[in-house]
Amino acid sequence: MKCVYCGDYTRVTNKRESGDDVRRRRECLKCKKRFTTYERSEKNDIILVKKDGRRERFSKEKLRNGLMKACEKRPVPIEKIDKTVGEVEEKLRRKGKEIKSEVIGKMIMTKLKRLDKVAYIRFASVYRDFKDIEDFKEEIKEL
Ligand SMILES: [Zn+2]
Repeated sequence: MKCVYCGDYTRVTNKRESGDDVRRRRECLKCKKRFTTYERSEKNDIILVKKDGRRERFSKEKLRNGLMKACEKRPVPIEKIDKTVGEVEEKLRRKGKEIKSEVIGKMIMTKLKRLDKVAYIRFASVYRDFKDIEDFKEEIKEL
């Protein structure tokens, strides 16, 4: 980083990080003037908004784990799971920054339905949080 006053080289006298942001205090080696620079990471995060309004950063890893759990001991190749994760992520990115968790839930369920019925039911039972067995029967009937 060059000095904003004279264009000469600077040194960092202080560095502070908060979250993803980095603040650097700089001093010019020549004119000795000081200034501060801010480094902000580009935020491409997708934020999931839960029913109760809580927000959580979308995690590919978490989604992958969820799918793997649903597909446990099922004849679903890992490539298909990874492909599904990729497709869901891409779809989410097109939708925008903040996405309701129901939306992603439905998205995943639609994909699982095609992938493996048992995995679908497993995921749905966790995700939908079936209140009673009747709900569950309804869901199975739909298959
Ligand atoms: Zn300078």
